Amino acid sequence: MNKNLIAGDWVEGSAAVADINPSDLSDTIGDFAMADKDQTQEAIAAARDAASSWRDSGIQQRADVLDRIGTEILARKEELGTLLSREEGKTLPEGIGETVRAGQVFKFFAGEALRIPGTNIDSVRPGVTAEVTREPVGVVGIITPWNFPIAIPAWKIAPALAYGNTVVFKPAALVPATAQALAQIIEGAGLPAGVFNLVTGSGKEVGEAIVSSPQVDAVSFTGSVATGRAVLVGTAARQAKVQLEMGGKNPLIVLDDADLDIAVECAINGAFYSTGQRCTASSRLVVTQGIHDRFVARLTERMEALVVDNALKPETQIGPVVDESQLGQDLEYIDIGRAEGANIVTGGARVEREANGFYMAPTLFTETSNSMRINREEIFGPIASVIRVRDYDEALAVANDTDFGLSSGICTTSLKHASHFKRYSSAGMVMVNLPTAGVDYHVPFGGRKSSSFGPREQGPAAVEFYSSTKTSYVYA
Ligand code: ADP
Repeated sequence: MNKNLIAGDWVEGSAAVADINPSDLSDTIGDFAMADKDQTQEAIAAARDAASSWRDSGIQQRADVLDRIGTEILARKEELGTLLSREEGKTLPEGIGETVRAGQVFKFFAGEALRIPGTNIDSVRPGVTAEVTREPVGVVGIITPWNFPIAIPAWKIAPALAYGNTVVFKPAALVPATAQALAQIIEGAGLPAGVFNLVTGSGKEVGEAIVSSPQVDAVSFTGSVATGRAVLVGTAARQAKVQLEMGGKNPLIVLDDADLDIAVECAINGAFYSTGQRCTASSRLVVTQGIHDRFVARLTERMEALVVDNALKPETQIGPVVDESQLGQDLEYIDIGRAEGANIVTGGARVEREANGFYMAPTLFTETSNSMRINREEIFGPIASVIRVRDYDEALAVANDTDFGLSSGICTTSLKHASHFKRYSSAGMVMVNLPTAGVDYHVPFGGRKSSSFGPREQGPAAVEFYSSTKTSYVYA
């Protein structure tokens, strides 16, 4: 059985989970150890014990370790990317691309470890100096979803280690193989025992044990809104630091003056790549009436040409849905949309392929209104809705009329509308003539409203969550 990493030892779990390839249900990747509450407590205790020595380890050691991890991930991108695609179902280029991103994130934070910010300025009292420094928070609990099995763990673990924290990492139970491969690389880079711990397991056992432990100083979570709110309540009750990245219902506006080719490609990429299983996916296509019919016709044509198949086949453009329960949820929303009066132009059903997997045809709803459930709730599948609007003003109002606020996009050749949208979109990330998904690692990632809570992730912004400010005064 594949194991968990606790206090520097690879240990058996209390149970095992079979890791199944969603492209081919006859392919089992392996049986992975599931930790329980007690093992989670052991991992937390190990991280606590290791905290003071890691805190004082020195920035060169941290930079070197992170750099080695990044180098190893990049050197093994084909192998790791293939494992990721086999386990999660995104296409091979996407799996390898995500792996490269994870390597780049570790390299970036290797540099950031050497640039921990601080200031030294005069106090308003003559002769007194004020110094602002950053210190590690302590033990960080990291809880991640299945849709980016290596990139999201990387963008949480790398800054946690860079700023001198120790880590208890709980990946989603659907993607234990990628998590374990990453943990092996991290361990192999020469970290002292206990600085980094892996506990694969369920949210109820392992996740809740991390959230409620008084020994965990901060929790960084990415996942659903409902779970994120539970994490928020659990951490708030004991005043732990918390950072949440949750869902999206991201609008992509297409204006009459848009370049049609760019708009269609933005929609194809934003709505359907990674099987639509991205919190930044463009699930609401808000289209002005002058371009509406041409846009829908061209988009439908492109969607029907997309190759939906086994993630590991080179010609595949859209892999399977991740598992049976997610596929069931996607199909349920197809029924909900139909019952609400939306029109299905293409897709709307499960499809069969050579191997038995969770395949679904990319689906486009038209004649939808923004008040329908399919436009209010995150579906997390290869499904998008077109909402027809009169003009830019209505498009902006519809785009912002959502409980979410992660990402938004506009396709237009008008500088005036692009500039206005950048300013008035109520999302944390705004794209002009680009897909709503696909963000860089050296700038902040995060949203507003129900999408996010707490300091931003990635780039230099990560220092805010993964460190604690100290203000010192000296009179000498
Ligand atoms: P997703 O639909 O992306 O799996 P979830 O919010 O269910 O979103 O899961 C995200 C992560 O949170 C997973 O690692 C999951 O195991 C974990 N999790 C689920 N429930 C809880 C909980 N009550 N407390 C802490 N973590 C949880």
